[in-house]
Amino acid sequence: MSENRINVNALSEQLFGPYAEIRKASRARAADPQLQRDPLLGMDEHRERVLGQLGILVQQEAVQRAFPTEFGGKNDHGGSIAAFEELVAADPSLQIKAGVQWGLFAGAILHLGTEEHHKAWLPGAMNLDTPGAFAMPEIGHGSDVAAVGTTATYDEATDEFVIHTPFKAAWKEFLGNAALHGKAATVFAQLVTKGVNHGVHCFYVPIRDEQGNFLEGIGGEDDGLKGGLNGIDNGRLHFTNVRVPRTNLLNRYGNVDESGTYSSPIASPGRRFFTMLGTLVQGRVSLDGAATNASKIALQIAVTYGNQRRQFNSVSDTEETTLLDYQRHQRRLLTRLARTYASSFAHDGLLEKFDAVFSGREDSDTDRQDLETLAAALKPLSTWDALDTLQECREACGGAGFIAKNRFTQLYADLDVYVTFEGDNNVLLQLVGKRLLTDYAAEFRKLDTGAMALYVAKQV
Ligand SMILES: Cc1cc2nc3c(=O)[nH]c(=O)nc-3n(C[C@H](O)[C@H](O)[C@H](O)COP(=O)(O)OP(=O)(O)OC[C@H]3O[C@@H](n4cnc5c(N)ncnc54)[C@H](O)[C@@H]3O)c2cc1C
Repeated sequence: MSENRINVNALSEQLFGPYAEIRKASRARAADPQLQRDPLLGMDEHRERVLGQLGILVQQEAVQRAFPTEFGGKNDHGGSIAAFEELVAADPSLQIKAGVQWGLFAGAILHLGTEEHHKAWLPGAMNLDTPGAFAMPEIGHGSDVAAVGTTATYDEATDEFVIHTPFKAAWKEFLGNAALHGKAATVFAQLVTKGVNHGVHCFYVPIRDEQGNFLEGIGGEDDGLKGGLNGIDNGRLHFTNVRVPRTNLLNRYGNVDESGTYSSPIASPGRRFFTMLGTLVQGRVSLDGAATNASKIALQIAVTYGNQRRQFNSVSDTEETTLLDYQRHQRRLLTRLARTYASSFAHDGLLEKFDAVFSGREDSDTDRQDLETLAAALKPLSTWDALDTLQECREACGGAGFIAKNRFTQLYADLDVYVTFEGDNNVLLQLVGKRLLTDYAAEFRKLDTGAMALYVAKQV
C-alpha cells in the first residue's frame, strides 16, 4: 500500500519551487501575529497597523532583496517577488501596500531613474522614510494610461517642470499611500517641451511635508472605505502648477536638457512607452503568485475540513461518510486543487523568466516581450481562479466557511480587486491575443508556397 501513496514531502518541495528557502522564511514571517490582520479593527486603525507592519518589514530586512547591492540590496529580483507573494497569508493589505512602496514607487525610481535618482531617493524609499505613491491612472483613464491628461511642461526660464492637472478627469485616482501616508509620488504625465508632447514619462514629485500636510499646489481626496484591502490608504491626487527641478524627470528612457531639447534611446514614442511600462511588470508577476497562494490557503482549509467532516451514513449503518468521499465534493475541490497546482508550476516558470530578464541573464527584446505576454496571460487566469476557488472552498465548508476566523470571506473581499489592478484582466488578455496573432502573422510571412501547401494539408 505505502508505495502507492503520494510522497508529501517531495510534492511540498516541488510546490515551493525554485525559491523554496526564501518562501519558507517569508511564510514564517507571515505567521507572526504582529504582521497579521486584526479583523476587529476599523479602517483607520487597520491603515495605521499596516503602515507599522511595513516598518517591521524594514527592521527585519525583508524588503531590500530586489535593490542594488550598493544600497544594501541583493539584486535578487525573482527572490524578492517570491518573498512578497507569501505575505498574502498574513494580510493582503500588507502585501499590496508593500507592493506599492517597494514594487511600484521604489521600483519606478529604480527602473525608470538613473544613478543620481537612485542615490537621492532609493534609500528613503527603501527604509520607509519616504512612503510613496505610484500615480499612474486618472479618473478619466485607467486601462488606457497612454491617454492620461496630467502634463509636465518644461520651463526653460527656471529649468523646472511644471506638473499640472488640467481638468477633474485628470486627477490621479486609486493610488495606495495617496490618502494619508505618502510623502512623494512617482507621477506619470505627458512630457511637453518646446510645445511638443513627447508622451507619458514619470516624474518624482514630493507631495507632503514632514507633518503630513500637502505641499503647495497639491491636493487630494481619500477614496475611503473599499470592498476590501482596507489597510491601504487609497486616494486621489491633483497638481496645480507644481514646480519640480528638471532633474526630477526619471530619465532612463527619455531626457530633456537645459535648453529644453528632448532625446531618447528609443525613437518610437509608442515603443518607448511600452518599454517603460515593461520595466514595471513585476506587479503583475507578483499578483499571479499571490493569487495562487490565496487559492492554496483556501484549498488547504477546505480539503482538511472535507477529510474530517462526516455527514450522512449513506454506505454504512455504523459510520457516517467523510465529505471528501462524496464524488460531488471531490469534483468541487480536486479539480480546483489540480488547477492550483498548474498555476503554481506555471508561476515558477514565469518567475524564472522574470528573474532571467531582470538580472540581465536573458534580456533581449524577445525575452522581454515573452515575459510581458506570459505575465499578461497568467495574472488574469490565477486571479480569477482564486476568486472561484475561495468561493467554492467557502461553500465546501458549509456554515463554518462563513465564519470570519476561517478566512475565506475576507480573503475573497481582498482578492476581488486583484482582477482589476496592475492591468484589468480582460484588457490583459487582449494584449495576449494581439501578441499571438502578431506571431501567427509573422509565421505566415515566412512560409513559401511549399510550406503553405503542407500547412493546409495538415489542417485538412
Ligand atoms: C483598490 C485599488 C488600488 C489601486 N492602486 C493603484 C496604485 O497604487 N497605483 C496606480 O497607479 N494604480 C492603482 N490602481 C488603479 C488600477 O490599476 C486601475 O483601476 C486599473 O488599471 C483599471 O482602470 P479603471 O479602474 O479605470 O478601469 P477601466 O479602464 O475603466 O475599465 C473598466 C472595464 O472596462 C473594460 N475595458 C476597458 N478598456 C477596454 C477595451 N479596450 N476593450 C474591452 N474592455 C475594456 C475593462 O476590462 C474593465 O472591465 C488601483 C485600483 C484599485 C481599484
